[in-house]
Parts: sequence; C-alpha cells; structure tokens
Amino acid sequence: MRSLVQRFAARVRGSRRYAYLKEYEGLQWHSREELEADQFDRLRALLQHAYKTVPYYREMFMHAGAHPDEIKSRADYAKLPCLTKDIIKRNRNALISSRFDVNALHGNSTGGSTGEPLQFFQEMGVYEQMCANLMLGLKMAGWREGERVFSIWGNPRDFSKKRSVFGKIREILSTSVILNAYKYNEDIFNSWIAAIRRSSNAFIYGYPSVISDFAHHIVNNNVRLKNVKGILTSAEQLLDDHRNILEKAFHCKVNDQYGSRECPGIASECAHGGMHLLTHSSYVEFVDDPEAQGETKKVVVTPLNSYAMPFLRYEIGDYAQPLNSVCACGRGFPLMRMGIGRLYDRFVCEGGQVLHGTLLVRQVAGIRGIRNFQFHQRDLVNIDLNVIRTTAFDEDDRVKIEAINTNLAGLSVPRVALRVNYVDSFPQTVGGKHRIFISDVRS
Ligand SMILES: [Zn+2]
Repeated sequence: MRSLVQRFAARVRGSRRYAYLKEYEGLQWHSREELEADQFDRLRALLQHAYKTVPYYREMFMHAGAHPDEIKSRADYAKLPCLTKDIIKRNRNALISSRFDVNALHGNSTGGSTGEPLQFFQEMGVYEQMCANLMLGLKMAGWREGERVFSIWGNPRDFSKKRSVFGKIREILSTSVILNAYKYNEDIFNSWIAAIRRSSNAFIYGYPSVISDFAHHIVNNNVRLKNVKGILTSAEQLLDDHRNILEKAFHCKVNDQYGSRECPGIASECAHGGMHLLTHSSYVEFVDDPEAQGETKKVVVTPLNSYAMPFLRYEIGDYAQPLNSVCACGRGFPLMRMGIGRLYDRFVCEGGQVLHGTLLVRQVAGIRGIRNFQFHQRDLVNIDLNVIRTTAFDEDDRVKIEAINTNLAGLSVPRVALRVNYVDSFPQTVGGKHRIFISDVRS
C-alpha cells in the first residue's frame, strides 16, 4: 500500500524514476546480445549529441580525423582517446553541451581520495536514473517496494536545510529513513538499533565502513537483530572484512553496488553474488594497463545518460575483471569482478617509484583483531598505519602488524618506513567517507 502511495506522490512531483525503473526491470531479462546491441545504440546517440553540441568533442573528433558515423563497433570506439580527471579540470566549460543552460544544471563534485575534488555538471534526468538504478540494485538484492530502507549516509551536505538535488538522499527512496553517518557514537548506534527493530523487514544501504562500525557495535554488545533482510553497500570499496562482520551482525547477505557521483549506476550485485554491469546506464570497457594486477584491467566508463556534460571513455580510476560466465539469476547483464585498490590508491615514493595500495591492503588483510585501518603517507619514506582494534585484538595480531615493515623490506618495493598507531577513530573527511589511503605528498 505504501508503495502505491509513493508512486502517486512521485508522479505528482513529476518524478520519472518509476518509469525508468520499469524500463530497467524489463531490460534485465533480455539476452546479453540484445542488451549490448541496445547499449551500443545508446552510445551512438550520445556520440552524435557530443559531436554536434559539445565543443571539446567537436574538436577531439576533428583532431582525430574521425566522425561519429564511422563508429560502428566497440573496436572503433576504443580508438578514441580517453578522458581523464585532468582533462576535465582543464576543459570544464568546453565539455558542457550548448543544448543545456548551465544555470539550470546541477553542480556536482567527487569527494576525491587524494587531491582536490572534481567539479562537473549533471541534468535532473541523471538524478532520476540514479534513483531508478538504486531501486533496481535493491531489488536485485531481494528488496521489495514498500520495505523500509535505512540509508546510513554520511555527507553533511545531505543533512543541510538547503535543498540540493543530489543532497536529499531521502528523496531517492521514499521508504527511506536516513541515519546520519557523519556523526555517530554508541548512543546513536543504539538509537539506530531501536529504529530498525520497529520495522518488520528492513534493508540497510550505505557506506561499508560505517555499516561495519555499526556491525562491530552489534556483535560486541551481543545485540540480536533478526529483521534485516539485506544490505546494499555503495560508494566505497567493500572489503572482505566488511562483508564478514556485516554477515555476522545482521545474518543476511551483503550486496555491493558500483558507481560514483560522476558515473552513477555502473554495476550491481544480485542475490546470487553476480556483479552485473548495468548496460542501459554505463558503457564499460576493460583496458589493458601496465599497472593492472593479475586478471584485472583498467575500467574505462562512458555514462550513457549524461548529456549535459558527456564523459566519453572516462578513466574512473578502478580496476576490474570482465567475466564471460552466465549468472544463476538468469539476468542478461554481463558480469564483472571488482579489483582491489583504485588507481590513485598508490603512493609515490623516493625517485618517483610507486607503491601500490593493493600491496599494503594485503599486509593487513586477515589480521582478525583489526576493525579498520588507514595508510597515511607523511613524506616520500614515512607512512603511518592507523589501526582501530577490536576487543579481540591479541598479542598474535600485534606481532603480525609489527612484521609488516620486515615483510615490505623483503619485497621489491620502494623504501618505506611504516609506523603503527593505535587509534580510536579516524578524522572525518568532508564527505564523511572513510579513506583507506591519504597522502601528504603532492605528485
Ligand atoms: Zn545474477
């Protein structure tokens, strides 16, 4: 019943999200070939638009001696140059389509793991499609419309009184209750528990780091919470340690969604554990890269719905592996597997040598007494490892942590000195997101 009321309320507000949701839900059962054909049609329409109305792309095509009409295959498209964050910063105005009034657009920005945030513009339609993709992701994880979603969200902008299009997370799901992840402590966790208990079937959505802290509180205090039906995490890397503690505390499956503010709706994990690429929303390429490890490749994304400021072949900064297998859920959306570590999760050390974040994460993975951690590079040599311990932290864990320096010295990596600090909390970032890597070294 609540769901019908919400649909009606959304229609009165002029919301398109339910129309998009219906379209996407219909698409998911098509074959992979049909979906990829549909995806390519969407890409070609975006290319024509970019060529005709976006000065930067007009010039890029001219410079490359190419025309959108000539792009007839994935291989053709892959010949175009990639877009980087630096290019966007230098050409922000030239990337805006002349078909849009810049004053009517929503200014958005990324949090930025290192360095300054990336500023860009999006039209209202992108927000509605993002809402639809979020609902699709929840449904793929087992949520049913009308079931209460607790959004544990941490951006202080989202709690400001001033209305902002992307800020009002509450509007993403009208069934949603927002728990302010920007400020939390034991008392606040208890109030969240009480709120969740009042709901019959609850879903939790939000940052994996914050929900994990909440989960530790639940486990440490032997709280029995049986009515959480599923968890959808987003916006940060979901580590195996997060997944383990979430499953232990909430007795339900954890699903991850992959996307970012500039590229919403890239992939979503289904109840069978398949990370499905959302072909109606993003065109994803997996590109060979010297820094890719194992089977992973560099992810290059073209958001298919951003017409105000199109991003063609955007280097989002992640690694992942394309999979050719078919998922047991029966959806035609292709599959991928996330890689650990983002491109910018690396430290530049002495002589410009690079130390990969993945390597550092591996050193602490599996140490059971660690609740959360953060690597903070102070200068070219010194790195602080800030650790929040669980109550189960023991001597064995301490020995393992102290061995990390010796382990690193035995590998062919740049010379670094790691100092371990045991802390109670990490400083909050502006976006409320937990950052695994922080660097004071400017490249
Ligand atoms: Zn699946």
